[in-house]
Amino acid sequence: MDTIKTAEIICVGTELLMGQIINTNAAFLARQLSEIGITSYYQTVVGDNPARLSAQIRLSASRTDCVLITGGLGPTADDITMSVAASVAGIPLAMHEPSRQAILGYLARVGRRTLTDNNWKQAMLPTVGTILPNHNGTAPGAIMPCVIDGHACVLILTPGPPSEVIPMFNDQVRPYLEARAPHSLLSHYVRMVGIGESKAEDMLKDLIATQSNPTIAPYVSEGEVVFRVTQFLDNSEEPDRTGPLLDEIRRRMGHYIYEIGPRNMPQVVRDILLDQGLTVSFAESCTGGLLSGALTDWPGSSAVFRGAVVAYDNEIKTKLLQVPEDMLVRFGAVSEETATAMARGCRTLMETDYAVSVTGIAGPEGATADKPVGLVFIGLSGPKDQHEVIRLKLNGDRNRIRRVTVLQALNLLRRRLLS
Ligand code: ATP
Ligand code: MG
Repeated sequence: MDTIKTAEIICVGTELLMGQIINTNAAFLARQLSEIGITSYYQTVVGDNPARLSAQIRLSASRTDCVLITGGLGPTADDITMSVAASVAGIPLAMHEPSRQAILGYLARVGRRTLTDNNWKQAMLPTVGTILPNHNGTAPGAIMPCVIDGHACVLILTPGPPSEVIPMFNDQVRPYLEARAPHSLLSHYVRMVGIGESKAEDMLKDLIATQSNPTIAPYVSEGEVVFRVTQFLDNSEEPDRTGPLLDEIRRRMGHYIYEIGPRNMPQVVRDILLDQGLTVSFAESCTGGLLSGALTDWPGSSAVFRGAVVAYDNEIKTKLLQVPEDMLVRFGAVSEETATAMARGCRTLMETDYAVSVTGIAGPEGATADKPVGLVFIGLSGPKDQHEVIRLKLNGDRNRIRRVTVLQALNLLRRRLLS
C-alpha cells in the first residue's frame, strides 16, 4: 500500500467558478487533509468542461499522490466528472449492478417513480478501484488508483452536495486516507473564550515557534479561539506525549480555557447542566434567538433547556418578563438594571434553575453617545435569587457582536455552574 503524502483538491462546477455558490467543499476537504496529516499545496475550481477538467486532472496527478475531486457526478449532461476522470486514468466504465439497484432503491424511497435514462449514467462506474456507495443521494463516488503520464496517483471522486460529500468522506474516504497517511496524528483541541486570537497567539508564540512534536498551532473557529496540539505518531503503540505541552498551555492560559477536547461551548454547558440536573432559560434581546439556537443545535438539550423569550420590543420586556417600565425609561433597555430584571423575570416565567438574559446594541444603528455599538449586558439569575451581570464592549460587525455575545453568555453560565 503506497503512502499518500500530498493531496490536492479539484472542485468541479461552473456555478462555483461564477461565484453562485460558495466553495464549502474545498474548505471542508482541506481541513480534513490537514487533520489527517496529508499536505496540500493546491486547490482548483474547474467549470463543467471536459477538456479543461481533463487537463487539470493530468496536471494535478503529475505533482501529487492523491487528487480529491468533488462535484459533477450527477445524472445531467453537464455532470462529466466520472467519465473524464476515468478516461484520464485509463480506466473503463461499466454498468455497476449494485449501484443500479441502490439508485432504484433511493429513488423509490424519495418517492420518484419516473426514472429517466440518465439516472443510469450514475451507475456507469470504474472497473478498477473502489466504488463508494452514496447513502444520501444517487451518485456513487469512486477511489481510482492509476498511473497518469507515468505518475502513480489516486483519484478520489465524491459528489458535489455537501450533505453527500461530508458523510461519504467521513465514512469511506477518511479511513482510506488515514491508513495511507505518512504519520498518524493525535490531536487535542484547546478552546478558549474571552481572549482575542492575536493576544492568545502572542502568549503562546514561543511554543508555536519551537515545538516540533507535539506541535501547537492556531485553529480557526467562529467567535472563539482554538489551538490544536498535535503529536505525530510513528506507530499506534506510541504513548500520548502531549501532556507537558498541554500543562504549559494550561498554566499560561488556564483562565480562558473552557475545554481541552472535542466539545464546543454549547456542548460543554449542556453537559454541566445535565450533570448537575439543572435547567436554564433565556431572555434574548439583541441575539434574537441565537443563544437558544446555539444550545438546541446539539442533541440532549431538551433535558436542560426549557425555553426562551425573544424580547426585542420593550413591551415584551415589560409584559412577559416583568421589567418595570420606569426602569426602562430611567436606565434604558441596554443597561445593567434591565439585564438583571430580564433574567429574573425569565427565570420566574420559565420556572428554571437559571436564566440568562442578553441586551445590547449589535449595530449598525441604535448607538447613542453613551451607548456605542458593541455594548452588551448579559444577566444571570440563579437559585435563591442570586444574580450577576457582565458588561461587554465588543468590536466587529453585527454578526460578530452577536456571535461573541452568545459565547460569552454561555460562558457566564458555565462559570457560575462550576463555581
Ligand atoms: P447532483 O447529483 O446534485 O447533480 P453532483 O455531484 O453532480 O450532484 P454538482 O452538480 O456539481 O454535484 O453540484 C450539485 C450541488 O452541490 C450544487 O448546486 C451546490 O449546491 C452543491 N455543491 C457542488 N459543489 C460544491 C462545493 N464545492 N461546495 C459547496 N457546495 C457545492
Ligand atoms: Mg450535478
